[in-house]
Amino acid sequence: AHLDRIAAVDGSVNAFLHVDRETTLAQARGVDERRAAGEELGPLAGVPIAHKDVFTTVDMPTTAGSKILEGWRPPYDATVTARLRQAGLVILGKTNMDEFAMGSSTENSAYLTSRNPWDLERVPGGSSGGSSAAVAAYEAPLSTGTDTGGSIRQPASVTGIVGMKPTYGGSSRYGVIAFASSLDTPGPFARNVLDAALLHEAFSGHDVMDSTSVEEAVPPVVEAARRGDVNGLRVGVVKEFAGDGYQAGVSARFNEAVELLESLGAKVVEVSCPHFSYALPAYYLIAPSECSSNLARFDAMRYGLRVGDDGSRSAEEVMALTRAEGFGPEVKRRIMLGTYALSSGYYDAYYGKAQQVRTLIKRDFEAAFEQVDVLVSPTTPTTAFPIGERADDPIAMYLADLCTIPANLTGNAAISVPCGLSDGLPVGLQIMAPVLGDDRVYRVGAAVER
Ligand code: GLN
Repeated sequence: AHLDRIAAVDGSVNAFLHVDRETTLAQARGVDERRAAGEELGPLAGVPIAHKDVFTTVDMPTTAGSKILEGWRPPYDATVTARLRQAGLVILGKTNMDEFAMGSSTENSAYLTSRNPWDLERVPGGSSGGSSAAVAAYEAPLSTGTDTGGSIRQPASVTGIVGMKPTYGGSSRYGVIAFASSLDTPGPFARNVLDAALLHEAFSGHDVMDSTSVEEAVPPVVEAARRGDVNGLRVGVVKEFAGDGYQAGVSARFNEAVELLESLGAKVVEVSCPHFSYALPAYYLIAPSECSSNLARFDAMRYGLRVGDDGSRSAEEVMALTRAEGFGPEVKRRIMLGTYALSSGYYDAYYGKAQQVRTLIKRDFEAAFEQVDVLVSPTTPTTAFPIGERADDPIAMYLADLCTIPANLTGNAAISVPCGLSDGLPVGLQIMAPVLGDDRVYRVGAAVER
């Protein structure tokens, strides 16, 4: 049924980069056989899922939205892919994304611009916009994404679904094509909080293949989502994430969500996190720095594209030609920014300073969580913007992640849940919790989701 739905609507939604009916049906039959053989399968066995094209998959290509990986067939599954396969989920296909997860709209994909099912002339957010569009358009009940600066929560917010960024290290990066390794975090998309928690639980937990994977047990997210009460819970409203730049309808829905929390028995207080305003500029030094290092591996020798290798050119010339043709403009911009920020003489002034800001933001979170159990804000300052509106204005595009980035810089857990509509477009409520407090965001999210 989902493959049929994809065939019917994806021509206009553009959520998928790769769909392979035969492979999907073969996987589904495999699950039936395992069940018939008496194997105990998890609660999501047989449920179809769409994977962001940043997770490696042995039976489907993986491009990370880039021409430089066009046609690449990974020789191994990402841990997230492998664990979900083991749990009996069936892969529908690979979803569109901004190239190497750099962007907030999927307009930086080398292949397609995905569309928001609520209004096809608007973006579905990004970078995991194919995954959010697929779930919002009922092409898939579940999907995966990665959140480096907001790329799960922002697309979830603007497409009216649930998207969760686990605690950094709570979900494995093994087999996730790297963007910024100290920030990249795989997480779930679903149409309600409980489904997201079930998916979260199915792929999370310690992984020896990821050196930054945490050893602690997965927080009890499913139990928390089922519980869904906030009585007596202390909720902090982040003072800095309001005012100018926030659409009136976004602020109105956010305020209503806060009132709802209060009516359900939560104690709401205003909390100041004075350094959150510096998160965005710090992120745009740290993320490009890490990207410039990670993307050095695309050297025309080991993966995918190789341009101009006709015997007349040096390896260095082939690398330069390949990178010039294989990377899009935003990726090049980030590599240049990052290389500059890391270069000797500038390192202390830029990268070093940004890392200091990161510590200050961590202290803001720690101080806040001495007073409250969770922090809330709008997920993103505006509803889905029209395709093309910010495509030529990187700064306007970067502002979509104003509220989501602090939790990335510090590794905290954060979710976006739908909290109503503004002019017919979805608005998201962001709920942030301490590191390894993932269960709290599901608990609060389940209480207020609309
Ligand atoms: N939009 C942000 C960026 O372009 C975040 C991306 C992400 O979380 N992958 O870097």
